[in-house]
Amino acid sequence: MARPGARKSRQARVVWGDRVVTIGGEAPIRIQSMTNTDTEDVVGTAIQVKELAQAGSELVRLTVNTPAAAQAVAPIREQLDRMGIDVPLVGDFHYNGHRLLTEFPECAQALSKYRINPGNVGRGDKKDRQFGQMVEAALRWDKVIRIGVNWGSLDQELLATLMDDNARRSQPWEARQVMYEALITSALESAARACEMGMAPEQVILSCKVSGVQDLISVYRELSRRCNYPLHLGLTEAGMGTKGAVASSSALSILLQEGIGDTIRVSLTPQPGESRTQEVLIAAEILQALGLRSFAPSVTACPGCGRTTSTTFQELTQQIESYLRAQMPLWRARYPGVERMKVAVMGCIVNGPGESKHADIGISLPGTGEAPAAPVFIDGEKRMTLRGDRIAQEFQEIVRNYIESRYGNGGGSSQGSMS
Ligand code: SF4
Repeated sequence: MARPGARKSRQARVVWGDRVVTIGGEAPIRIQSMTNTDTEDVVGTAIQVKELAQAGSELVRLTVNTPAAAQAVAPIREQLDRMGIDVPLVGDFHYNGHRLLTEFPECAQALSKYRINPGNVGRGDKKDRQFGQMVEAALRWDKVIRIGVNWGSLDQELLATLMDDNARRSQPWEARQVMYEALITSALESAARACEMGMAPEQVILSCKVSGVQDLISVYRELSRRCNYPLHLGLTEAGMGTKGAVASSSALSILLQEGIGDTIRVSLTPQPGESRTQEVLIAAEILQALGLRSFAPSVTACPGCGRTTSTTFQELTQQIESYLRAQMPLWRARYPGVERMKVAVMGCIVNGPGESKHADIGISLPGTGEAPAAPVFIDGEKRMTLRGDRIAQEFQEIVRNYIESRYGNGGGSSQGSMS
C-alpha cells in the first residue's frame, strides 16, 4: 500500500546472484535482521541466516569483527548458496573494517552490502583514510554501503566541535538537540564523502539509530527532511520481550506512517532460548498491521472475557496461527494472495458472528452457557456448524480447503505481497 505523503527517496539495489533487493523509491519496505552467532562458526551462522531468511528477513547482517570472521564469510555464503538461500548478506564493520575488507577480498566480494559506522572507523587523521579504504572496497566490488550512525558510538570529535559551535550561539540549543545534529551531520557528511570518492548516491543508505522512541522520531524527521538517501530505521538496543517489541513498534510505526523509512530492523534482545527469528516476525507484524505489506494471513481473535472461561478458543487461535505461519513458505508460491486472507477466531456469540462475517473465514466458538456449537462463516455467510471435540481439526481442514479453492491455480493475486 502506498503511504500518503511518503518521502521520495532514491532506490538502492542490493544484489546477490540473481537476487535483487531494492530499497527505497517505490520498493516495499524491507525487513532486515542480524545474526547473533559467532561468525567464525560457518555452519551455525549459515543455519541461522537460513532461519532468518525463511522467517522473512530480506537482508541478513553478520558481524565481521576479526580476521577469522572475515575468512568465514565466503564459506558461509557458499553454504547458503548450496542450501538454496540467496538472501543478500551485509557485513557489519567496526574499528578494523578497512583492514578486513582490504586483506580478505573473498569476504568483500561475498557480502552484498557493507555497514560502516563513521564513529568507529578511527580517530584523527586515521578517520578519513580508513573510511576511504572501506569506500574503496565498496567501489571495487560494486557494493551498496549503509552509513550507520549510532549514538552509542557517535563521532566524539564531531560532537565536540558542534558543542563548541553551539556554545558560541546567542541562544544555544539544548544538549540533546546538539546530539541530534551530530548524528545527522555524521551521516550526511560521511555520505557526501563517499559520493565524492565515486559512490553513486543510489549506493548509499543511511541510518541514525538511538534507543529512545522520541529521540528516534525527532532524528529521523530531520534526517528525512535533509536528504533523499534511502533510510534504514531501527530503535537500537530496544530491549527484551514485550518492552523491546512495543518500543520498536511505537517508534517505527509513527515514522512509517509519516512516510519515513525504507527498510527496518527490530533490534530485540532474545529471551534465553528464544529464536532469533522473533525480531523478523515482529517487523513483519508491524508492516502488516500498518497495512504496508502482507506476509501471512492475519488471525483476528477476541481477547476473551468472563463469557469464555475455557481455554478452547485460545488454543484454537494459537493452533490456527501456527498452522498458517508454518505453511507460508510453501503457500507463498502455491497460493498467491493468501497472505492477505483474514481469519477470525472468536470466543462467544456477542461479537463472534459479526467479526467472523467481516473475515474471509471465521469461527464463533461457544461461550460459557451457550449451546456447544461453533458456526463457521465463509465470505460473510454462515456455512456450517461444528460440534464435538474435533472442532479444531475440522476448522483447520475447512481453512485449508478454502485456501485451495480460492487461491489455488493463481486464484488470488500477489499484489502487495513480499515481492
Ligand atoms: S467475543 Fe465474547 S468472549 Fe470474546 S471478548 Fe467479546 S464478549 Fe468476551
